Amino acid sequence: MIDGERVTYEYAGPAAAAPAYHTHSPSMDGTLRPIGPSGFSDSMLRVRQLGPLGLGRHFRGAAGTSASTTRPRVLILGSGWGGAKLARGLDKDKYDAKARTLDLEKQYVSCEGIFTGRSFDVSFDYLVVACGNKTNTFNTPGVAEREGEEVFFLKHLHHARQIRNRIIECIERAANPTLTDAERARLLSFVVVGAGPTSCEFTSALSDFLRDDVAKWYPEEAKQAKVTLVEAGPRILGPFDAALAEYYRGHLVARGVEMRTATSVTEVWHGDDREGNHTTHARLSDGGTLPFGAMVWSAGLALVRFVERLDALPKQELGVSSLDGSQRLLTDSSLRVPGTRGRVFAIGDCAGVEGAQLPPTASVAEQQAAYLTHCFNQHYCAFDPSTDADLPPPGPVRPAASPVSLAFFLDYLFTPTPAFRYVEPGSLASLGSRAGVMDGSKSELGLPSVTGWAAIVAWRGACWTKQLSWSNMLLIPMFWFKSAVLGRDISRSLIFSIYLFFSV
Ligand SMILES: Cc1cc2nc3c(=O)[nH]c(=O)nc-3n(C[C@H](O)[C@H](O)[C@H](O)COP(=O)(O)OP(=O)(O)OC[C@H]3O[C@@H](n4cnc5c(N)ncnc54)[C@H](O)[C@@H]3O)c2cc1C
Repeated sequence: MIDGERVTYEYAGPAAAAPAYHTHSPSMDGTLRPIGPSGFSDSMLRVRQLGPLGLGRHFRGAAGTSASTTRPRVLILGSGWGGAKLARGLDKDKYDAKARTLDLEKQYVSCEGIFTGRSFDVSFDYLVVACGNKTNTFNTPGVAEREGEEVFFLKHLHHARQIRNRIIECIERAANPTLTDAERARLLSFVVVGAGPTSCEFTSALSDFLRDDVAKWYPEEAKQAKVTLVEAGPRILGPFDAALAEYYRGHLVARGVEMRTATSVTEVWHGDDREGNHTTHARLSDGGTLPFGAMVWSAGLALVRFVERLDALPKQELGVSSLDGSQRLLTDSSLRVPGTRGRVFAIGDCAGVEGAQLPPTASVAEQQAAYLTHCFNQHYCAFDPSTDADLPPPGPVRPAASPVSLAFFLDYLFTPTPAFRYVEPGSLASLGSRAGVMDGSKSELGLPSVTGWAAIVAWRGACWTKQLSWSNMLLIPMFWFKSAVLGRDISRSLIFSIYLFFSV
């Protein structure tokens, strides 16, 4: 498995002893050198391009590799919700599912180590593109330039750490008595852009944090802190039922969050004001300006560069609002990319199924991964991918309808079909730590729509059962309990302190 964000090295099977990947540096005149497990430890890798679609070639054991197995090789690009679930589910007795971070070799997908910059190519019999997507800035001036300084995306774990550190830094700096009132107000102004479920959950968590935790240590600063939610559309929580969205809005307003719907950020400006103070502010479509200490930008999604550059593969314009103006890889109803003889699949946020309008959510990615797992383990294993033949459609597959694995019996409510069938489970959004909304209006599982504590219990239950390890399943309730009883930690993270220590 190749992932651009984090390193995974888990592999079960005999080929682990004989790595199929080799490295070469451009400066090494193409000399190949095998990389063992330790060689993967510090590499963050990004796929740069897909080689010309010579899909008739049989890459297993191709020159330069030392693969010792005759099992088809499934290469999974991306280890997010879709990719990780597929890698875990594949039957390793039938496939070489390379759930490892790769280094280099020249064959099919061209990759680059993010830290090392070294290039390598990886061969496959089947390729599953599960690269997700990235944050869309809509080319708003100043957003990309200030990213990581005062503007933060809300996508990966490191973004969460950056946001937390910056908010705490702003509060600490605002406590300095030598500041002007304007500068203090700016530092204590937090802006969230985009009011989809992710941004709304973040906004409510931030207002809880300020009110419950910061207020204990910085009561004056907590009182002055202002949270503003800016949304270009007419209302918040677009995918939810309008009544639930209104309920959610009422709660945010009651907590003092300023709602700016039907307003967009047109520019992020950074420089010195008339008094010579350093300032950052957002220019708004209604002509106003909003000075801020931290802005969380979660306004939309765009294709990652690798998928964007796959010109040889068909794309689909999707009318999904968060991907407006963007495209996704087109797949047929069996999640195969047309024109690849069934050797390339796409799942999750980066893929669009022909004739369907699926939202970019973890539920879709998970159900698609479960579908492909079944296809590979039960149907495609009988096919020899080294031939020139088209991969035949799979046999019937039962939808993985249950939103939590413990309720697998819900799957039996649905008839197996060869085509992928998405079962809408319903939507959940937390409203801080003690309330939430659950929208069952579109749920095919017959779930009700509820608000308040019942919804947050369902939200926590769903989060808990989605954890991939027992240690997380143990730790997460412990953290919830600790936060509820003792409050949240308001110190900046250790990594940041170490960074400061070494940078002064
Ligand atoms: C903060 C947040 C909260 C969310 N909450 C929910 C929720 O409650 N419910 C819900 O249903 N959905 C939620 N979502 C959406 C959900 O996370 C996504 O829909 C889901 O992760 C999509 O899965 P995926 O496998 O397609 O992509 P991802 O999970 O995004 O994984 C893609 C992986 O591919 C890697 N990658 C990208 N480019 C390359 C490359 N060139 N080479 C190699 N690797 C690459 C990335 O680093 C990433 O690890 C949330 C999203 C966010 C950001």
